[in-house]
Amino acid sequence: MFDSPIWYAIYHHALIVVAAAVCLFGTWVGMRHFARARATVGPMHYGWVFMASLGTGAALWAAIFISILSQAPSLDNGFEMGPTAFSLLIAIVTCAVGFEIGSKKNLTLAPEIGGVIVGGGILTMHYVGLNAWHVAGVVTWSWFGVGANVIFGFALGALSVSRANRPVTKYCRHGAAIVMTFAICVMHYTMVASHDVIADNAIELSPSLVPGHTLAIFVTAAVLLVIGSGFSSYFIDLRSRTEAAERIHHLSFNDTMTGLPNRIAFNERLSFDVSDAHEKAHKLAAFSIDIDGFKDINDVFGHAVGDLVLIQAAERMRRALRDGEFLARQSGDEFLALQMSGNMPHTAQEMAARIAAALDAPFKVRDKSVKLTASIGYSIFPTDTQDKDHLLSNAKLAMYRGKTTQRGMISKYDHKMDESARDRRALARDLHDAVKNGELELHYQLQTSLADGSIRGSEALMRWRHPTRGLISPLDFIPLAEESELIIPMGEWALRRACRDMAEGKLPGVVAVNLSPVQFKQNDLVETIHSILVETGVSPQRLEVEVTESTMMGDQNGALHTLRKLKAMGIAIAMDDFGTGYSSLATLHAFPFDKIKLDQSFVQRIPLDVSAMAIVRTILALGKSLGVPVLAEGIETEEQLLFLASEGCKEGQGYLMARPVPLDKMLPAVANIMQRAAQPAARIGASIHAAIAVA
Ligand code: C2E
Ligand code: CA
Ligand code: CA
Repeated sequence: MFDSPIWYAIYHHALIVVAAAVCLFGTWVGMRHFARARATVGPMHYGWVFMASLGTGAALWAAIFISILSQAPSLDNGFEMGPTAFSLLIAIVTCAVGFEIGSKKNLTLAPEIGGVIVGGGILTMHYVGLNAWHVAGVVTWSWFGVGANVIFGFALGALSVSRANRPVTKYCRHGAAIVMTFAICVMHYTMVASHDVIADNAIELSPSLVPGHTLAIFVTAAVLLVIGSGFSSYFIDLRSRTEAAERIHHLSFNDTMTGLPNRIAFNERLSFDVSDAHEKAHKLAAFSIDIDGFKDINDVFGHAVGDLVLIQAAERMRRALRDGEFLARQSGDEFLALQMSGNMPHTAQEMAARIAAALDAPFKVRDKSVKLTASIGYSIFPTDTQDKDHLLSNAKLAMYRGKTTQRGMISKYDHKMDESARDRRALARDLHDAVKNGELELHYQLQTSLADGSIRGSEALMRWRHPTRGLISPLDFIPLAEESELIIPMGEWALRRACRDMAEGKLPGVVAVNLSPVQFKQNDLVETIHSILVETGVSPQRLEVEVTESTMMGDQNGALHTLRKLKAMGIAIAMDDFGTGYSSLATLHAFPFDKIKLDQSFVQRIPLDVSAMAIVRTILALGKSLGVPVLAEGIETEEQLLFLASEGCKEGQGYLMARPVPLDKMLPAVANIMQRAAQPAARIGASIHAAIAVA
């Protein structure tokens, strides 16, 4: 029958279609297994690599042999058993090695290297198979065709594993199987083009050869077996994963207070979603949500109100969720969320904004109205990281980074954040040596009366002269010092330095020294200050300490006790950064401060921000009614100074009058202020009118 060229052509091409179909099915199943291999670790990973290489290897082998069988159907032909079986082994082993290398995450060109190995395996298998094939004829080769065959084999192998491993779209995983199949077809046709078989009946085939049609039966059986078992294992896995998802669902509602899924449920969900995203080549966003200043709400309104606020906040956020989004409560006022398969990062940003907006309206709890903001950080898989634990820590890092800049920030993780976290740790290490190496300095910023410009004293501000980085701002190192409690010896150093400078007669008036809340945890703070005063001979009336309201959080009674003792010694106590915290008023009622320092954030919004100006007026009125003088911080312009003076603010501190300077620049700073004070009052009067007009 095959004597007719038409029949031959039909037979030949039909077999190629069969080979392509076998290859397509087998590699498609193999690629599903490979995706699971990439998403798992340990024994599970190797199990999936084995399944993937068995399926893919067998399918490729079968396809190649079908293609060889289609070559010379009209001639007697047969295969040597040993090399034929060996070529199957080559296919499976090279696939296993290629897939294992291809799934390495710490190797840059891993998928391509793995793919070249798979391509090499296909080629070797092909030539071993051809060698094992004997035909009653003479075979001649064209080296050009063989060369093309080799190049296509490597290139298409690399392309296919690369597509499976670096999916750009969700179609890429199908792309891998299609490329493999295309590779088999290309190899077949380049091979057909590269050799010729001329019948020669004189050639006798050895009887030990396995006839072509027998091998065809074997090939078919092997292929059905491998593909069948591959399919079933894949579906068993899919089913068990669906069951796991259902179990997660049951486990979920575990946080008794808010009714949200808890941390454990979140972790299970994260593992599940990450492996799903891996397989489907989707993106996934993880969020860390932290309510700003929630501790203050508890401190001011009590825990019962705090809990009710949290319940309402959780409910509002839950209602803001859409399909494919998941919210859990981590602990306290921290929440976690996930978003599956959006158009990242836009949809992640949109979801964060939606959650923030849900918290916007004030919370009404027991006739109280509480306003909340949340800091939200997020990170995207696989763009930012392929590791699920890193994904969450990235999101938290972004959240903290945002929070330190401003409350209510939404921040996307950025690789630079890792760098700056590393940098922070390095700086914290260096800080240990700073105290004993004498790298700390104290600068002083003069404070003046707003009425006549006269000097009333100065504030001591710490500086760190780092051996390689130069002068470092306290905004950068004080938080580090507080974390490590190094602030205790540093604060003591600042007190002693300031008192010594006073004792040497280099500073005018009262000197204010900042005290960190951490220093208040020391039982001997009062004794330490007392002994410094005795040691330097400075009168307690010349010393002022500045505390922020966070000092009063935590152990309020302990802090109050310490403040009372200091006050009894004759030391003045100033409340720093007034107006920024939640409980400013409560703190003011708890202790008779000697001074309120109006925070510079309000002063700097004069004269453009009407509401900031209203707050300034209120605080000044409050000081007046309590009989506590107010000092305005951060005065930078004449306009601000005049507005404050016209509103009855008595004292001020700011770059306009004096910048913080080292001790040896104190004299010029003092002279400069005296000169300002001598300016004609008429000019000030005219400007006050202008300022009032602006207000
Ligand atoms: P603070 O206590 O609110 O100090 C005032 C800050 O405002 C100082 O920043 C000062 O340089 C700055 N400042 C003064 N006038 C102006 C102005 O007109 N415009 C602007 N933009 N800023 C002005 P500095 O020296 O960087 O200190 C930052 C913070 O570090 C201080 O804020 C204080 O909280 C902390 N700090 C500084 N020295 C010490 C210390 O010895 N102990 C402790 N615990 N904290 C310190
Ligand atoms: Ca201060
Ligand atoms: Ca301040």
